[in-house]
Amino acid sequence: MIPANLGDYEAARSGFSWADARSRLDGLPGGGCNIAHEAVDRHVLHGRGDHVAIRWIPKRGPAVDLTYDELRRRTNRFADVLGTLGHGPGVRVATLLGRVPELYVAVLGTLKAGGVVSPLFSAFGPEPIRQRLELGGIDVLVTTPAFYRRKVEELRPVLPALRHVLLVGDGDAAGEGVLDLAPLLAAARDEVPLVATTEETPALLHFTSGTTGTPKGALHVHGAVVAHHLTGLYALDLHPDDVFWCTADPGWVTGTSYGIVSPLTHGVTSIVDEADFDADRWYRTVQDQQVTVWYTAPTAVRMLMRVGVDVAREYDLSSLRVVASVGEPLNPEAVVWGEEAFGMAILDNWWQTETGGIMVANYRTMPVRPGSMGRPLPGIDVTLLARTEEGELVLDADGHPVEVTDPEEPGELAIRAPWPSMFREYLGMPERYAKCFVDGWYRSGDLATRDADGYLWFVGRGDDVIKTAGHLVGPFEVESVLIEHPAVSEAGVIGKPDPTAGSIIKAFVRLAPGVEDTEALRSEIVGFARGRLGTVAAPREIEVVADLPRTRSGKIMRRLLKARELGLPEGDLSTLETGA
Ligand code: ATP
Ligand code: MG
Repeated sequence: MIPANLGDYEAARSGFSWADARSRLDGLPGGGCNIAHEAVDRHVLHGRGDHVAIRWIPKRGPAVDLTYDELRRRTNRFADVLGTLGHGPGVRVATLLGRVPELYVAVLGTLKAGGVVSPLFSAFGPEPIRQRLELGGIDVLVTTPAFYRRKVEELRPVLPALRHVLLVGDGDAAGEGVLDLAPLLAAARDEVPLVATTEETPALLHFTSGTTGTPKGALHVHGAVVAHHLTGLYALDLHPDDVFWCTADPGWVTGTSYGIVSPLTHGVTSIVDEADFDADRWYRTVQDQQVTVWYTAPTAVRMLMRVGVDVAREYDLSSLRVVASVGEPLNPEAVVWGEEAFGMAILDNWWQTETGGIMVANYRTMPVRPGSMGRPLPGIDVTLLARTEEGELVLDADGHPVEVTDPEEPGELAIRAPWPSMFREYLGMPERYAKCFVDGWYRSGDLATRDADGYLWFVGRGDDVIKTAGHLVGPFEVESVLIEHPAVSEAGVIGKPDPTAGSIIKAFVRLAPGVEDTEALRSEIVGFARGRLGTVAAPREIEVVADLPRTRSGKIMRRLLKARELGLPEGDLSTLETGA
């Protein structure tokens, strides 16, 4: 077994400096910092140009390999194309592509050109695309002819900044500034002059998932690569000979920070699967590609659990060394299921679009406490800020926020600012950005508790926490108990206004395959929850649903369950998975 990168957690924390973390990377020849240089060119300079950087698995057909040197040349060519079209450093590029090699080339090529890149999720319809292109001030869009015709062409009159649309794949390009990318790349140079970016040069623009409201545009800088690298080292335990698979789409921050940047900075082979979730396909991919480190999301784990552990047993998954998850709380049940299915606990970690990289994690070398998000990364200081019942910060006599010390008391998870992958701006919302910081802390908006050993436990998003009969209840705790009941495969819990209790707890549950919804079953589930949670935190109402509304990145949208329950406006649905 390969030794873990993080041996002694305490020692790594106390001896930590960002300068040391930075020295694990090269920097640009001549000074400066560029994500794409650290992810791609550096490995060629170090003699690993022939190592496979990306193994692309198309929806159908055999896998296609791109070595680090091929990726270097192709990204140089993309950067050269931007220059040829008259776009200099600072150009803003968006991609609207499925998970195809051109997406990875465009992202890294834009970074090499000193531009800002925003990968958009390809299933977005015209309105969410318009919002993001407009807010991002996007100059160049890379997409397919079909997406262009179906989703973008009609928007051109209202997007004057959009000067070029570069089309991937065969099509009859037509319209102002609409060009086929392939011939441009063919005519471009393999070697291009370096653009001098620094740690503070803007690089990546990500939109949040829209779980709690309209998605926000978070801007990150090239220096973020130091955190991408370090978190890949410690939280994902990446080693250069790993075969790593991050299942997230680059349209979400996970799919860029850990689907593109972090693994490549470690020189691993990164798997890119063009297809969507399918339990058999996923297990087969792990088996055939000998995946060693797998990074996925709770929603995917729950789908694998629904299919059953027997399916996992049909495959040889013994190559796996680390399985990690992010995006939502990982129910304890799922952590334990990982032991059954993969022979190891699934390592939950916590972070946000705004933090750019993993902030709190379970590590291969530390005992996992199922249901806990783990402990802060070396270099990351976390506290819990006390909040009033109304959700305001508690301030001391001098106006400074008060930190929670009681291990039972939830507080707002806050991170000492800055750190390299901290977002530098919410596009178009400077006041909202400023409000995220208090006394040198970044406020995440999430509530957590911290036990005596420093493990953090997710309670809920500030907005989702339920006040019932004078108690604060986090939906996660209730949902986790519900899915322990054999008949329940997923649950979403909300507070429903009630004249006496303030709110009562209502649970929406999705039943396991083949289970029939009866009144007896529902009361049994309520009884089960009471037995585990007590009467206060147990749901008073249970509604069986065919599916739960979730974001396209797989998060349960409790705000939508609530709006529908109360007959309120549904709000921004741009990231809602259709059919839910
Ligand atoms: P929006 O900000 O638009 O409402 P979002 O917060 O879901 O959407 P992301 O930045 O993609 O957008 O998600 C970050 C959030 O996801 C965190 O603030 C947290 O609420 C949740 N989250 C991520 N990982 C975990 C985890 N391991 N445990 C619990 N919650 C998590
Ligand atoms: Mg958020």
